[in-house]
Amino acid sequence: MLHLFDKIHKNLLKIVYPAYCLGCQQLLLKNEDVLCSNCLHNLPLTLHQELSINEINRSFYGILPLEFAYSLLYFHKNGITQNLIHHLKYKNRQDIGVFLGELFSYHLQSNEKINKVDFIIPVPLHKKRLFERGYNQVDTFCQTLSRELNITYDNSILKRISYSKSQTKKNKKERSEMSATPFEVVFDASLHGKHFLIVDDVITTGATLEACAKELLSIPNSKVSLLTIAYSQS
Ligand SMILES: [Zn+2]
Repeated sequence: MLHLFDKIHKNLLKIVYPAYCLGCQQLLLKNEDVLCSNCLHNLPLTLHQELSINEINRSFYGILPLEFAYSLLYFHKNGITQNLIHHLKYKNRQDIGVFLGELFSYHLQSNEKINKVDFIIPVPLHKKRLFERGYNQVDTFCQTLSRELNITYDNSILKRISYSKSQTKKNKKERSEMSATPFEVVFDASLHGKHFLIVDDVITTGATLEACAKELLSIPNSKVSLLTIAYSQS
């Protein structure tokens, strides 16, 4: 029933969105979604999931104990990944999240590490940002991964705290401590020892994901992994 609804929803999105390829702007064929088969074939895949050590693991070595960390695509300025993320984030093209979620799920289906994950956790948006945009840009991506890989999706465990009211009254040290950890976790004993997969759109410096991971690692015996749509080397 859920799958039927998803199919109907997907076809509705096809009607709503103009059927042009987000890579080359050519008209899409009936069986193509978001990208034409040529652009799909030429996506800059990282293939992180096929390597024992990748650039994300390496950058967090000694900083975070990660089970695994993968990005789907390389992010290049003015490249196809940037265009996909831009439309997902600012043009309400939430179907791109579904498309990329299905693509990543396909690449992860035989990955043994992903089977050990208990929860998919999106990096939360600030309430004000969520209100302005109307959606969290990683939600449809997360929900698709959840459905395809059969892992529970939960956007209530990790919260983003708002400090705007009291910020100015704090001294400089207090302010910098607060802005270093704008997240908090809400948990009870049922989450002890669980494995959390934190999901974001792009990893650049890794500071946001690091702050989220540290919060989730405060849950006793928890394990943390990272997954993003894109990896930016700059
Ligand atoms: Zn194309």
